[in-house]
Amino acid sequence: MDRKDICSYDYRELEDEITGMGEKSFRSRQIYEWLHVKLIGDFAGMTNLSRQLRDRLEGEYKIAGMRVAEHQISKADPTEKFLFELEDGNMIESVLMRYTYGNSVCISSQAGCRMGCRFCASAIGGLKRNLTVSEMLRQIYQIQTISGERISNIVVMGTGEPLDNYDNFVKFVRMVSDEYGLNISQRNITASTCGIVPNMRRLASEGLQITLALSLHGSNQEKRERLMPVAGQYELTDVLEACDYYFQETGRRITFEYSLVSGVNDQPDDIRELTGILRKRNCHLNLIPLNPVRERDYRKPDRESALDFKNKLEKNGINVTIRRERGSDIDGACGQLRRRYAGENGRKQGETDEDICND
Ligand code: SAH
Repeated sequence: MDRKDICSYDYRELEDEITGMGEKSFRSRQIYEWLHVKLIGDFAGMTNLSRQLRDRLEGEYKIAGMRVAEHQISKADPTEKFLFELEDGNMIESVLMRYTYGNSVCISSQAGCRMGCRFCASAIGGLKRNLTVSEMLRQIYQIQTISGERISNIVVMGTGEPLDNYDNFVKFVRMVSDEYGLNISQRNITASTCGIVPNMRRLASEGLQITLALSLHGSNQEKRERLMPVAGQYELTDVLEACDYYFQETGRRITFEYSLVSGVNDQPDDIRELTGILRKRNCHLNLIPLNPVRERDYRKPDRESALDFKNKLEKNGINVTIRRERGSDIDGACGQLRRRYAGENGRKQGETDEDICND
């Protein structure tokens, strides 16, 4: 029988498992602490448990391993990228970014992605599978262990669409912010979505304090559809209403992300339409000059026109920043992450973020 991954149980579930084995409930507290605070990777190291209990745990459960297949350290800025190999051979990537306010990790939520955004490398090859709660947590645990530095911020902006892996994603947020676990403040967690309306609304009612970032990328329905197939499924007006609802329910200001694609969505009309959408909303706009992807024909605007775009929006009263690029020498850029298998050649993604996790 397949052993169950013990890291995917939240505190209450673990307690049920452990007391179900006939153990006292304080044992579950000890085990949870080993797994989610001391971040241990094997049962043998749980030295305050009896040998017998450790053996029983070993027989019934596993702590899913993730091998570091590659670890790159940027020379340009304090950014590091990790390529993890999952137990089934799928590869995912995570990025550690150090800021003055703390260390932020960008994690993946799926192996591959089925959203198909035209400019994103993660879409190429489609979805392989959802990540488990444990696999989302372990990206942070392993990076904290390897770096020896506390992680204080999380952005869910690596490969995958978190709201397409809804239950695991929400459980992950609860566990990583649990006082019995790493206790990372929910206010320091940002998740980015391409706009899956029903799940945005569900998320608004979860009682979480995380920041929601919406990938807008088009200043009207038609332009958005051109870049994002998922826009065909959810009308822009409905997506924006879901954003308003999220703000209304949580009090958390929405961040809008807008990848600037030269000649496609960086025109004067876009400034006008974007202003119309955003001016009446309490929000923040984060511009991401496109990171070119080999297979796609889209280009990045030059620095001057990106700045010009930003300044014009600012003049119109929009709260806007250009996302600062991180780890450029190690391919550290949004949307360049792709699903890879061991031995397959491909480029890797990084994630850049300053303003979003600073919010
Ligand atoms: N599935 C989530 C997370 C995606 S990654 C979402 O769609 O929001 C985080 C951000 O990077 C998204 O806004 C995404 O659209 C953007 N992005 C993807 N590829 C990019 C690229 N090549 N250049 C710039 N931004 C990109």
